[in-house]
Amino acid sequence: MTSTLDAKLSRDVQRVHDLIRLACDSAATEAEARTAAWAAVRLIHLRGLLVLAVAPQPAPPPPPPVDDGRYINAKFASACRVCGDTVYAGQPCWWRRSGGVEHLACHHSRRGST
Ligand SMILES: [Zn+2]
Repeated sequence: MTSTLDAKLSRDVQRVHDLIRLACDSAATEAEARTAAWAAVRLIHLRGLLVLAVAPQPAPPPPPPVDDGRYINAKFASACRVCGDTVYAGQPCWWRRSGGVEHLACHHSRRGST
């Protein structure tokens, strides 16, 4: 009994959904849209359906920017994170906020670029 009611309710809800979609379809003629809207409202009224709006989900926050690093002149001596040798103060290098410094050659060889 309950499953029959559920199936009938699901069918009615689907029908209302289809009618509303047709009423809002820009390809439908004005008469079709009006008839679909009327039929949807009538079905909602006759079946005692309750129309609820589903609040849109907030967009997820954008991912944090990828810290891919940038070219700098080293401000002080530090160990290259690739080869471990010293990157001297004033030497051009690749710097990443979360990853330290790399010799330019080490950086390019690691990334497979020139
Ligand atoms: Zn290196």
